[in-house]
Amino acid sequence: MKDLNMKEICLNLLVSRGVELKDISEIVYDLQKKYVPDLDLKTCDDAIHRVLDKREVQNAILTGIELDVLAEKKLLSEPLQTLIDNDNPLYGIDEILVLSICNVYGTIGLTNFGYVDKMKPGIIGRLDEMGKKTDKCHTFLDDIIGAIAAAAASKIAHNAITK
Ligand code: MG
Repeated sequence: MKDLNMKEICLNLLVSRGVELKDISEIVYDLQKKYVPDLDLKTCDDAIHRVLDKREVQNAILTGIELDVLAEKKLLSEPLQTLIDNDNPLYGIDEILVLSICNVYGTIGLTNFGYVDKMKPGIIGRLDEMGKKTDKCHTFLDDIIGAIAAAAASKIAHNAITK
């Protein structure tokens, strides 16, 4: 399978789970606007695309979303089914899985991820709420989106520093 196909599969998967590129762009913009005065949404979109080009990011997206979907369909074995379906705070593997995304552009990504994980801006908060109040499972998805946004923000930060 070619990398281009993998990226398209991931973008389609995100859309199928209710996440558009612009939702992630808004978070990236908010994270970086203080530091990059001439920042626009196009620059944020481009940074997200560079993040999505990375194989380790694609693998994390595929794996995490698959587990969310299987949990929704009640197809996992116990006790994993309940841990993931209930987004158990002591599970923690959702945050661990996406570290591979956070770190693609260095350690600023980790700081940014910690921030969005706590603040749950925009689509992340909406996914979190939906996961709690409906039969949707977003245990991995909210962290995946937070990590993509965090990595894209650190890419922009690095570019701004080296300009
Ligand atoms: Mg989570």
